[in-house]
Amino acid sequence: MSGNRTLWRFHGGLHLEGHKALSTGQPIRTAATPPQLVLPLQQHIGLPAKPLVAVGERVLKGQLLAHPEGHVSAAIHASSSGTVVAIEERAVPHPSGLTAPCIVIDTDGTDEWCALTPHPDYKLLDHGELRNLIRDAGIVGLGGAGFPSFIKLNPGGRTAIETLILNGAECEPYISCDDMLMRERPQEVVKGARIMRHALQARYCLIGIEDNKPEAAAALRRALDEMGEREIEVVLVPTRYPTGGERQLIKVLTGKEVPSQGLPLDVGVVCHNVTTAAAVHRAVERGEPLISRIVTITGQGARQPQNIETRIGTPIDWLLEQAGGTQGRYRLLMGGPMMGFALHDTRLPTIKTSNCLLLASEAELPPPAPAMPCIRCGECARVCPAQLLPQQLYWHSRAKEFDKVQDYSLFDCIECGCCAYVCPSRLPLVQFYRYAKTEIWSQERERQAADLARERHAFREFRKEREKAEKAARHKAKAQAVQQDGNEETKKAAIQAAMERAKAKRENAEVAPKNTDNLTPEQQRKVDEIEARRADTRAAEGDRQPAVEGANHARPGTEDT
Ligand code: SF4
Ligand code: SF4
Repeated sequence: MSGNRTLWRFHGGLHLEGHKALSTGQPIRTAATPPQLVLPLQQHIGLPAKPLVAVGERVLKGQLLAHPEGHVSAAIHASSSGTVVAIEERAVPHPSGLTAPCIVIDTDGTDEWCALTPHPDYKLLDHGELRNLIRDAGIVGLGGAGFPSFIKLNPGGRTAIETLILNGAECEPYISCDDMLMRERPQEVVKGARIMRHALQARYCLIGIEDNKPEAAAALRRALDEMGEREIEVVLVPTRYPTGGERQLIKVLTGKEVPSQGLPLDVGVVCHNVTTAAAVHRAVERGEPLISRIVTITGQGARQPQNIETRIGTPIDWLLEQAGGTQGRYRLLMGGPMMGFALHDTRLPTIKTSNCLLLASEAELPPPAPAMPCIRCGECARVCPAQLLPQQLYWHSRAKEFDKVQDYSLFDCIECGCCAYVCPSRLPLVQFYRYAKTEIWSQERERQAADLARERHAFREFRKEREKAEKAARHKAKAQAVQQDGNEETKKAAIQAAMERAKAKRENAEVAPKNTDNLTPEQQRKVDEIEARRADTRAAEGDRQPAVEGANHARPGTEDT
């Protein structure tokens, strides 16, 4: 129980040393603007954003630099004013260590904002308008996932949302940026929670915080009181890694199990990080896009561990200097010791999901011992919060049996690292799972590309056939037209010939008859009578003759009479 609220337990998990106090001793500071910002076009789950600016262009702080490409993507904005000096491949912070397209800005030191459009009363906006504002502000899950937030604020009519959960658990050791935000800016979290709740029309709103952060919980409760907010509840949950996993926190707070391969929406819940909520408040009520975030700088390698508000795109070496510099030998991780990944270059930029830079000394993070064969002890399965069989996932990932590894629900693995942490054989289990996931995604992308190519080929063939058929139809129509013209001509020629024959006959008829010499008077009288009748007939014929010569009215029979 937490107060009057019943809490549940998730399977597995670990009790870990927090090391939080290392970085919570001083208030949040703001880093100065670096001389150069490097903004990767992909700082989120989904497709990279598409640049809208050109090299040489002057940009203002908050200006849209790249718009989302496709539905699952996020906008990128300038985090200070300056000039775009390159759009090119640069090394980016990613476990793969690969390069990716980035927009590079030389800052001008004026930090000049572009025009902003605040919406002080979010209740005047409908749900769609709110989601669009959040999308346009480039907000993604700031707890580390980087999934575009507006999508999670759109249940799409699938189901009514009963509970909005704000995740303030921050269960991974060393990281304290959410904790410090809740302590120092609780009103921003509450305002963001109100907007999200309105967008989702959620019945309840809970803010879940691990009980090792009493200051944060107290600050939020105070803010709720001061703001007269009675419908948002702060709930302290037991500190147990990984309570901050979305499915785990939902289980603890509501008792509901998100189904395998399902979404929290399937059980009527939506979960957002507390820092994401604060970013939503700034985007809607102040009109500010996501251009900065709080980064925890911690570990024995940091001279002054602290939390520092950092412009997105700030190079890590600049940021470390801002935070007091480094000391001794350390390994640099982005994220915490359980889910973070190693960085080998301090010139890399900070991105939207950079919640922590851990400068771990050898004592804090000893180099991994050599891996030994799996002894099938089952410890990994005992601690797995997703109730998977990590050793089976390991075997099949290692053997590249990607169908089988999916049969063991690889994609339910949250990469929490509990299994590797307890493995007596020191097997780098999570690395195998990440490798298998990447291979499966890549095969899926190739399959989709092949399907697309096949569809394009089929369409090209169909278009060719259609064009061929259309051409044949055109030829046929033309031939028929020619034939029809030919028939007309033949008909005209026949008529002409008939008319000429009739004319010739008429002319022959006017020639004097033969054998008319030396006629008897009787014969002459008969001839005269005949000639007289002919003359009459011709006179009558002349009355009926058409005006147009050659018209089709010849009556050959009349000449014979
Ligand atoms: S904990 Fe390690 S050794 Fe034990 S079963 Fe799992 S993978 Fe094998
Ligand atoms: S990393 Fe994956 S398999 Fe290992 S304990 Fe966490 S969820 Fe389970």
